[in-house]
Amino acid sequence: MSANRLPWYRRIAEAVRRIFAVSSKRYLCDTCKWDYGNACSRPERPNALTCPDYKKK
Ligand code: SF4
Repeated sequence: MSANRLPWYRRIAEAVRRIFAVSSKRYLCDTCKWDYGNACSRPERPNALTCPDYKKK
């Protein structure tokens, strides 16, 4: 069964589950190469969930 054939209440439950999965994820900055000193001046630091400049340490 494809996702858009789910009843509406299942789709809402899925959406909530996904939001919680994202919010419980660790912030990207914790593992980012640029998370030291003045290396990064992005406003989302240190709590970036998405970042175009992210680079793994
Ligand atoms: S580049 Fe992005 S992920 Fe890395 S420290 Fe800066 S804001 Fe965080």
